[in-house]
Amino acid sequence: MNLNFSEEELAFQQEVRQFLAENLPPHIVEGTANNSSVFVEKDIALEWQAILVKKGWAVPQWPTEHGGTDWTPAQKYIFSRECYHAGAPMLIPLGLLMLAPVIMAFGTEEQKQEYLPKILSGEHYWCQGYSEPGAGSDLASLKLKAARDGEHYIVNGSKIWTTHAHLADHIFCLVRTNSEGKPQAGISFLLIDMNTPGVTVEPIITMAGDHEVNQVFFDDVRVPVSNRIGEENQGWRYAKYLLEFERGGGFSAHRIHHEISNLKRLMKEARQDNPAFDKDGIVARRLARIEIDLKALEITELRLLSSLNDGGNPGPESSILKVTTVRLEQAVNELMVDVLGYTGFEMNPIEGGNPVRDDYTSSIVPRYLNNRAASIFGGSQEIQRNIIAKMVLGL
Ligand SMILES: Cc1cc2nc3c(=O)[nH]c(=O)nc-3n(C[C@H](O)[C@H](O)[C@H](O)COP(=O)(O)OP(=O)(O)OC[C@H]3O[C@@H](n4cnc5c(N)ncnc54)[C@H](O)[C@@H]3O)c2cc1C
Repeated sequence: MNLNFSEEELAFQQEVRQFLAENLPPHIVEGTANNSSVFVEKDIALEWQAILVKKGWAVPQWPTEHGGTDWTPAQKYIFSRECYHAGAPMLIPLGLLMLAPVIMAFGTEEQKQEYLPKILSGEHYWCQGYSEPGAGSDLASLKLKAARDGEHYIVNGSKIWTTHAHLADHIFCLVRTNSEGKPQAGISFLLIDMNTPGVTVEPIITMAGDHEVNQVFFDDVRVPVSNRIGEENQGWRYAKYLLEFERGGGFSAHRIHHEISNLKRLMKEARQDNPAFDKDGIVARRLARIEIDLKALEITELRLLSSLNDGGNPGPESSILKVTTVRLEQAVNELMVDVLGYTGFEMNPIEGGNPVRDDYTSSIVPRYLNNRAASIFGGSQEIQRNIIAKMVLGL
């Protein structure tokens, strides 16, 4: 297998580098570096999205007819890698990379015309209404009820852990339209405007101190039947399709590489502060283990994601990417916190309670805490392993 880039690909790499050098504003790079949450600030993400839309590079994964690029998998890989190296933020995937593929695959022509341009421009900011109190891993037991009333559904119940619901103007929801038979057979997929009367959002503050997730309540919310994606009671199929994109629709290895370069900078500083740092080589060995596994992840991503080039979906193999990405990201976060030691406290109690180091360093412990949730959201690590065992290994 030839893993070297061709002349054309190297020229493309130069073109991307030049574009980033000329168009990626420093305040966006800074906001991305100091971010400790799963997504960067909405304003930063949308500003960068608008710059990419203008260039025609916001959604390389989309077909060209809807505003995507005609890039090869190698070009998509190069673009993604260069963006991370330059410190650009990840665009918020909820609308762009999770809902949009479902609309493209199962939506009507009217729904494609109505929603895709607004997702691309950032006019619509979406959140994901899958989980409920009592329905997380066992998602099919969800209860949010949508009762038919002529050309509307009347929606009652609640969704929980809804990331960015307090910032979103739209939510895509799994709702129960039939309570008889197999639970999977009575689910539908609805698009709901958050400004509809009866929708309320309550914050949930995480242990990292962030307001990122919420509980969303629906109280007699009237939703047009035309907002349903696909057929009534067939929503489980569309929901699973979306999850494949949530779990493995991008190149995560770059993100980890980028974080490892920050880790190496911290290690260098630690060595300057204390020449005895890592004398026994334990930190270096942990880092080497991560880097070896990261190489394997990178190759697996290239292999699996090349299938997306033909408009395919990632398939259940996306669970392999999710399990490995989360494991490695958390290992890097943990090593960073260990390298920082007591200087990782935002207010260092030993040095008189003054803030320690720079904004980036202060974001490391919150990022470590925030990223513990990665083993839960998008389906827990245990659930991913169940999927790999059943759907990939056929056990
Ligand atoms: C920060 C964060 C953001 C989130 N964002 C969203 C969002 O935007 N939209 C949304 O819809 N949801 C969101 N979620 C919810 C997330 O998808 C669920 O938390 C997740 O699916 C787990 O469900 P649960 O919390 O009900 O845990 P449970 O399902 O109760 O699981 C508890 C534990 O039991 C284990 N377990 C359960 N069943 C099995 C099994 N069959 N085999 C082995 N182990 C099992 C799980 O792995 C877990 O460790 C978010 C969650 C978090 C933490």
